Amino acid sequence: MNEPWKGAFPPFRIFGNLYFVGTEGASTHIVDTGDGLVMLDSGYQQSLYLVLHGMYSLGLDPMKLRYILHTHGHIDHMGATAALTRLTGAKSVIGRADRDAANGMNDLSYARELGMTDLPFEPDILVDDGAEIRLGNTTFGCMATPGHTAGAMSWFFDVSGGAETFRCALHGGMGTNTMCRAYLEAHHLSYDCREQFAAAMDRLAGERADIFLGNHMQHNHTPEKYRRLLDGDSRAFIDPSEWASYCRWAKEHMLEMVRKEQQ
Ligand SMILES: [Zn+2]
Repeated sequence: MNEPWKGAFPPFRIFGNLYFVGTEGASTHIVDTGDGLVMLDSGYQQSLYLVLHGMYSLGLDPMKLRYILHTHGHIDHMGATAALTRLTGAKSVIGRADRDAANGMNDLSYARELGMTDLPFEPDILVDDGAEIRLGNTTFGCMATPGHTAGAMSWFFDVSGGAETFRCALHGGMGTNTMCRAYLEAHHLSYDCREQFAAAMDRLAGERADIFLGNHMQHNHTPEKYRRLLDGDSRAFIDPSEWASYCRWAKEHMLEMVRKEQQ
């Protein structure tokens, strides 16, 4: 059973002005831009209290949220957005093709599959490949990475701590659950998403990233890195080799699913 309200994980600073306030069920990251906060994925509606608690305990005032950027339009990454935008006035941002998952015009939010109630919102800003959101000292650039959903976006931005700056990449979503035959047939979707995903992973793998972020903590081994941070390794999340190998693995993982399907 999916019980996101039980998924508490300690909130912590990843590096410089980048923070983790997510749960075991879904990652939520915050960037303090110096002129307000930007959230990357809001998580499940049912775990919003954990995200808010995490923000307060790190000294991040939720009322300073200006944007909520989304990796894609599934309920585990945007379930809390309707409540948060109403609470804080923050603007919601999502890939254009995921608009109807966000506003409830289609049934692709995965709410039904996860036994959740959909909390629709009309996104304030719809982004396409290459769009940028700027706030304070930070520019968030997005790259269209369709496949897991049609509007999945990977986000790139710099974070700073002391005299150092590192480029972060947040992966848009790699689950093959929405690219398998059963799902595509059930939702009358095109098989083209597989080719699009493979091409997107190739493109992503060509990008440089010092810090790899995932929208689920197991993707980028957040718990292990957190423990290393606690043990005094302040650079636990910095690994310029990790991003590209993950993107290549994600492509292979999808192709393996297709091969198994054909057996
Ligand atoms: Zn998803």
